[in-house]
Amino acid sequence: MGGIGDPAKFTAEIHVTCTERSVLRCPECDKVCPGSDHRLRKWRHTGICDYRTHVVANVPRVRCLEHGIKIVSVPWADARVHFTAAFEARVIDWFQDASSISTVASRMGGSWTMIAHIMERAVARGLARTETQPVAHICVDETSSKKGHNYITVVSNPKTGTVRYVGEGRTTASLAGYDDGCSSAQLEALESVRMDMGPAYITATKAWVPGADEKIAFDRFHVAK
Ligand SMILES: [Zn+2]
Repeated sequence: MGGIGDPAKFTAEIHVTCTERSVLRCPECDKVCPGSDHRLRKWRHTGICDYRTHVVANVPRVRCLEHGIKIVSVPWADARVHFTAAFEARVIDWFQDASSISTVASRMGGSWTMIAHIMERAVARGLARTETQPVAHICVDETSSKKGHNYITVVSNPKTGTVRYVGEGRTTASLAGYDDGCSSAQLEALESVRMDMGPAYITATKAWVPGADEKIAFDRFHVAK
């Protein structure tokens, strides 16, 4: 087996099969339904021995009287995405200390778009949980893919490193999406908003945050260059 030493050159696949006796349920209404056919699906999974790993399954589809033909839910992933829940959790963990999508993408061997999508999903869930907890300081950053074609706006809590929001693009509207989701108590609780000197974020902050002029703090790193 001397030839398969380089993890970069090989991939691992975990094949999951559904037994004939499995009871199939509609993912919408959870009613037991007759099977229709199968769809071959593949999800990116956390690496086995550093090999790029996928879970592969021929997933049954059911014929629901109310909802039509639907692919059944699988326990390891959300049916609408191309990565397992375990892979998603690992990406979110790593994002806490490496706040650049490119860094996480290269460490996890995933695409920039995939990692950004995972972060957007995580933030959507995280915001729902922390909505009522105002924070005093936030940090706004734009980050881009290596090729520079895709930009996102990331709002984080500089004390904890928690990402609070990810918006598409790097415009006033990209940041306004965060402000729009905040209560007036949350906006008033803000004491500082750290950002670079780009006009888009300044415009959004002035439009939404009371007393913004005294609260905007420019990132020294950005000012210096
Ligand atoms: Zn149904």
